[in-house]
Amino acid sequence: MHYTGTLYINPYAPPSPLLEITQGCSHNKCKFCTMYKDVPFRMSPMEWIEEDVQEIAQHDPHTTRLQIIGADPFILSFDRMKEICDVIHRYLPDVKVMTMNARVTNIKSKTVDQLKELRKMGITEVYLGLESGDDWTLDRIHKGYHANDIIEQVKKLDEAGIDYWFAFLNGAAGKSHSHEHAVNSAKVFNQLHPIFVGSGGLTLFPGTELGEEAKRGEFDPLTEKEMMEELKIFLENLECDAQFFTHHTIAVNLNLSGNFLENKEKILKSLQYAIDNLDEEKLSNNRNNKRSL
Ligand code: SF4
Repeated sequence: MHYTGTLYINPYAPPSPLLEITQGCSHNKCKFCTMYKDVPFRMSPMEWIEEDVQEIAQHDPHTTRLQIIGADPFILSFDRMKEICDVIHRYLPDVKVMTMNARVTNIKSKTVDQLKELRKMGITEVYLGLESGDDWTLDRIHKGYHANDIIEQVKKLDEAGIDYWFAFLNGAAGKSHSHEHAVNSAKVFNQLHPIFVGSGGLTLFPGTELGEEAKRGEFDPLTEKEMMEELKIFLENLECDAQFFTHHTIAVNLNLSGNFLENKEKILKSLQYAIDNLDEEKLSNNRNNKRSL
């Protein structure tokens, strides 16, 4: 198999063979991320893709589900995607579900009819690391789009019947804009229909622009407690009928997952308990020991 640089695999998705179709990230400018700094973006050569699909077919010719990998493979044009889907179906005729990461900007180049075609070919779910729905925060972390782009582009996925997951980056706005980040993100998420909403806390990894800004005193990161409080504001305002999960460092001991609307009160109570009882030093040590997103 051809795998290049860091592999980011959705830890909540059902296990399935991994097929790389792009390398690096087409954006590569988010201030909290160094995952693909040393990997120039490029499309994987079709020969590599075909070889990898053949290898997957040798292991299990009846594979029904694939996780397409790359930072944002949904960047590929409709024609290129179609070509890749044709190769996949030639060797793996039982594949019905293909999932992949996508940036909001990746959707822009595709019409609703093209998205419907991709859905028919098996691209049924995309993972969108939105991080925020607040314009100030999106600019601050260099995401490369605004709230109105999110709403406009993701509505096209709704029309095409492609399911999507959203991620909220807890702590991304620092102290100065925390409240707006939480409230405005929930407002944007509420206008759409994610099947999963996930949340991870911002970790300032060495070498990230945001980490360097924090060292110079230009970014004021939230404490673990403040991060929990921000997450609580976000969840209080969130009204999505989706599954909710978090890989925040406290999640291990708390019931912070499940169908969100059904469990909202329970989730908020668990979170309040965590806020009242958290061990700041232990949690911040856990975070400092993290090595990747
Ligand atoms: S967070 Fe995602 S979009 Fe942003 S630079 Fe990293 S891989 Fe690319």
